[in-house]
Formats: sequence, C-alpha cells, structure tokens
Amino acid sequence: MCTIDDLRNAVINGITKADAEEFMTECDFKDLARVASELTRKITGGDTATVVNNVVINYSNICVAQCPICAFYRPKGHPEAYVRTP
Ligand code: SF4
Repeated sequence: MCTIDDLRNAVINGITKADAEEFMTECDFKDLARVASELTRKITGGDTATVVNNVVINYSNICVAQCPICAFYRPKGHPEAYVRTP
C-alpha cells in the first residue's frame, strides 16, 4: 500500500518502471490524480494543462483480426480497403 507521500517523494526523486507499476496497482487513483495535478501546477506555474496530440497515419486498414467493436478495418478485397505506399 502506498501513501500520497510515497507518490510525492517519487515525483521529487524519480521513479523506476517497477515503481510506476506498483503505484498504478497499489495506490489510490485519487492520490495519483492529486499528485499529477500538483506536478502540473509546479511545471506550468498555474492552471495551464497541456496535451500531446499524436497523428497516426495508418498504412493500411486491412486487418485479419476483425474485432467486433472496430469500425476501422476492412477485409482484404473490400472496396474500401487500402494500402498506402511511400
Ligand atoms: S481494432 Fe480493428 S484494426 Fe485493430 S486489430 Fe481489431 S479489427 Fe484490426
């Protein structure tokens, strides 16, 4: 079981991958969110939050997995299937 002070100390001293895995499984989510918010305020100096916007360009929408929740994939030979080339 970890405490919010464990999280704050980790933010100050740095964390390993093992620490991060332990925190994600052992710590209270609200404590994680609170410390993340504290760190954001410390870095930005206020109420500014930033995000990273990634763009993923798929080279193909052909997929054999056919997950039932997916609206992206098309089977090979489908009229909307595509493969991009450089
Ligand atoms: S989510 Fe869609 S694209 Fe991804 S593996 Fe499943 S069917 Fe394929």
